[in-house]
Amino acid sequence: MLGEFLSNLWNCEAHSMIVDCHTHVHEYPGHLSDEFVREAQSRSRSKPVDVSVTADRHWKAMSGVDKVIVLGMRAFHSGIMVPNEYVAEYANRHPEKVIGFAGVDPARDNVRETLEYAADKLKLKGVKLGPVYQNVHPTDKRIMEVYEFCEARKLPIMIHQGTTFPRLAPLKYSLPILLEDVALQFPNLRMVIAHLGHPWVEDTLVLIRKQPNLYADISALHYRPWQFYNSLILAKEYGVLGKLLFGTDYPYTTPEATIEALRNFNKMAEGTNLPRLESEEIENLIHSPTLGYLGLS
Ligand SMILES: [Zn+2]
Repeated sequence: MLGEFLSNLWNCEAHSMIVDCHTHVHEYPGHLSDEFVREAQSRSRSKPVDVSVTADRHWKAMSGVDKVIVLGMRAFHSGIMVPNEYVAEYANRHPEKVIGFAGVDPARDNVRETLEYAADKLKLKGVKLGPVYQNVHPTDKRIMEVYEFCEARKLPIMIHQGTTFPRLAPLKYSLPILLEDVALQFPNLRMVIAHLGHPWVEDTLVLIRKQPNLYADISALHYRPWQFYNSLILAKEYGVLGKLLFGTDYPYTTPEATIEALRNFNKMAEGTNLPRLESEEIENLIHSPTLGYLGLS
């Protein structure tokens, strides 16, 4: 009886938690090339984003969430080289809240060495990939080694599979549908498709509907309100709202702005007969059970 009560209470608490599954730390100058930063600024919608995110700045920005995944990233082709030690130092300072993911560049790094060091020595809990940034096809043999290691070691992967701004990042490697072969070959690998694979949201939704261990996050989408609205309505129609994870892509947006956009979601449909989300569906999305899905709880 008491056990049941406590476990219900715990489940309830776990479910009321807000987890930001997609955030960054990187310093500039240092971890990002001038060209990457120039391109990031020029595509920015209103005022330029300050891309230099120290641990302190990140920590303050995350005061409104209960847990946060902070992603390393190594993509030499695109000028992003965040040291895994940098991510680990921060994550290990706040083990109760910050979950660090390692970066690995399959075109540049010794994959096995990098991942063994990241998992065993640095205690990082997952891996970030970005084939489009890394100039690697998502089923290239060098990147297959990453999936194999992560499946065996139960490390979840956050994968940027979708468009991005750098001119030299090949879009042909960014299509979400390319992950179908990966999911079939590594059925136990838990993987999150970042930003709903935009603009190929439809492909992402049908893919995660079929593949039990594939998820998608809603980060960095709300500032394109029409696409955001259509994406979540479509997710509901395909019955996969429950496989979407809350995330921001900080510093590109914040938890507060993302939560506000979600809670104001139905404003788009005001005065029309367009479909809406229930407020329970919105709250479930804000409190998505990310840690359980990714085997991190
Ligand atoms: Zn990101």
